Amino acid sequence: MLSNILEYSLSEFENEIVALGEKKFRAKQIYSWIIKGVDDFGEMKNLPKVLVETLNENFVIDLPRQVEVQISETDGTRKYLFELTDQNRIEAVFMKYKYGNTVCVSSQAGCKMGCKFCASTLNGLSRNLTPGEILGQIIAAEKESQEKINHVVVMGIGEPFDNYENVSKFLKLLNDKDGLNIGMRNITISTCGIIPVIDRFGDDFPQVNLAVSLHAATDVNRTEIMPINNKYPIKELLSACRRYVNKTHRRITFEYTLVDGKNDSREDAAALAKLLKGLLCHVNLIPLNPVAETGLRKARRENINAFLRELEKRGIQATVRRELGDEIDAACGQLRLRK
Ligand code: SF4
Repeated sequence: MLSNILEYSLSEFENEIVALGEKKFRAKQIYSWIIKGVDDFGEMKNLPKVLVETLNENFVIDLPRQVEVQISETDGTRKYLFELTDQNRIEAVFMKYKYGNTVCVSSQAGCKMGCKFCASTLNGLSRNLTPGEILGQIIAAEKESQEKINHVVVMGIGEPFDNYENVSKFLKLLNDKDGLNIGMRNITISTCGIIPVIDRFGDDFPQVNLAVSLHAATDVNRTEIMPINNKYPIKELLSACRRYVNKTHRRITFEYTLVDGKNDSREDAAALAKLLKGLLCHVNLIPLNPVAETGLRKARRENINAFLRELEKRGIQATVRRELGDEIDAACGQLRLRK
């Protein structure tokens, strides 16, 4: 079976190349073509023909196949539906922000976490993505958009801390100065709150940003929309977040999706402020991007504004997320579900 080079760090690939009797520097040459999106050894102009043959006999560059791209006319958001070699489909999103271009990648094909507002979990988990499959989404998005990407968020389909080994290796590949060279501080991982992995993550990647999907301020409400709360309830989750901040001195982002009539009242905001008091954090308020299958509705604008004011009044930093690509099935998992 051919090995996918995207799974290798440069030093691992150098070992492979040397083992085939080739010069070590060839690995770096090949690597630099790959990060430009070249996935055919024959197009790597500085390689001798015999090396191209050797590479074709031993390796493959498995970039995900683009099935569809939806482009927002209003803000340039690009949403990709990709297909992997085993026909599993995943999504990635390219977004333009003032501070640079960001790609949101998937870490699993499907998800088993069962969050009620999320389309990615409706058919359960198919499988974990490999490090190279996560990385390949970014290379493919750069290739298609012809734009350099400087920020990455692991917030697409899947729960990254349910696939921690592969996500860890992906982070190292992404940060490699001979690879895409994305700084650790420009990467954010989002979790629904798997406590033991939050502790590990703080030790392993103290410079990578952490976002935690909270979405409710009481256990009753959170359990209703996020089954993970049965296993890791709010009090224990916030203790883990405090440990993380003490260890890394980094600010945590709490994601809070505002759902009409479910978690968007002033009382909810007051309860949230009480929970987060004294914690180095920022609250990202997300107006729900409705998923028809869930029957949940987006919070009303006046309630979103009142919620934000209530948090600010109580000393909690918060912003309302810009609603990117509303017209292009931008909520996680929607495009995959429709196809
Ligand atoms: S929100 Fe994230 S963790 Fe929850 S079901 Fe969707 S993909 Fe999984």
